[in-house]
Amino acid sequence: MYAISLLAAPGRLDPALVTSLQTAFGAGSAQWLAPDEAAEFPVVSTPSNFEEVRVQIAQMGVDLNIVPATNRKKRLLIADMDSTMIGQECIDELADEAGVGARVADITARAMNGELDFEAAIDERVGLLKGLPLAVIKSVLETRITLAPGGETLLKTMKANGAYAALVSGGFVQFTSAIAARLGFDENRANTLLEDGDTLSGKVQRPILGQEAKVEALNDITARLNITTEDAIAVGDGANDLAMIHRAGMGVALHAKPTVAAAAPIKVNHGDLTSLLFLQGYAKTDFV
Ligand SMILES: [Mg+2]
Repeated sequence: MYAISLLAAPGRLDPALVTSLQTAFGAGSAQWLAPDEAAEFPVVSTPSNFEEVRVQIAQMGVDLNIVPATNRKKRLLIADMDSTMIGQECIDELADEAGVGARVADITARAMNGELDFEAAIDERVGLLKGLPLAVIKSVLETRITLAPGGETLLKTMKANGAYAALVSGGFVQFTSAIAARLGFDENRANTLLEDGDTLSGKVQRPILGQEAKVEALNDITARLNITTEDAIAVGDGANDLAMIHRAGMGVALHAKPTVAAAAPIKVNHGDLTSLLFLQGYAKTDFV
C-alpha cells in the first residue's frame, strides 16, 4: 500500500480537488492531516497517470507525492543546511560582506544546479574570501541568516518522537555548528574554512566534503544507530544532495533547483519544512 500526499501552503488545499483526485485514482477515503493544507489517501499501487497529474496539480500550487504506507515515521532526519534549513547560502552572504557578492553568487548558483565541479567551485569562492576578518562570520550569522519556515517544528516533533537529527553541509562548520545548536540537531558535518590569525586564509581544509560525504554520513549514522537507510528521511535543494536523497528511505527535494527537483522522488515546492512531517503521516495536531 502507498499513501498519496497532497500538500499546499496553509489554507490553499481545496477539499474539492482532493475528492476529485481520490475518485480519479480510485483511492480509499481521504484523511486530512491539516484542514485546507495537507491530506492523503491510500492506493494499492502508483496510478499510471501519476506523473502527468502531478505536473497539472503543481500548477495549482499543490505538491503531489506518493510514499510507501509502511515505515513512514523515520528515525533519522538528515538535512542540508544552505537554502534548506536556512534561507540563504552562507558563502554568498560572506562574499557580499567581502565585496565580491555577485561573482560568488553566480558560481554558487551554477554549482548547486550541477553545472560546475563542486570542489573547484568551493576553492574558487573561498579564495575570494581571503583576508576577511573572522568577526564577519558572527555578524553574518546574527544579521543575515534566517531559519527556513517550519524547521524548528520539524526538529522538535521528530526528536520528541525519538528521531536523531544530523545537519550535513557542503558549506562550513563555522556556520553549521551555530545553526545545528539553534535548531537542536544532534550533530553536524561540513567543510572547514581555514583561518590565518584573525582572518580567513582563503583555503578550505581537505578533503572537501561534497555529494559523497553526505551519502557517507547517511551510511555511517544509520549504522551507528543500528537502523537502515530506509529509516531515514533526507532533505536538500542542491545537486550535491541528490545521492543522499536517492539513498534515504524518504528523499525530499525542498524548493530545489530545477534539475534536482526533476530527479528527486519526492518534491516539495509549495509547503514549508513541516511538509516532511505530513509526508511521514504526522497530523498538524501531532506537531510539537
Ligand atoms: Mg543547499
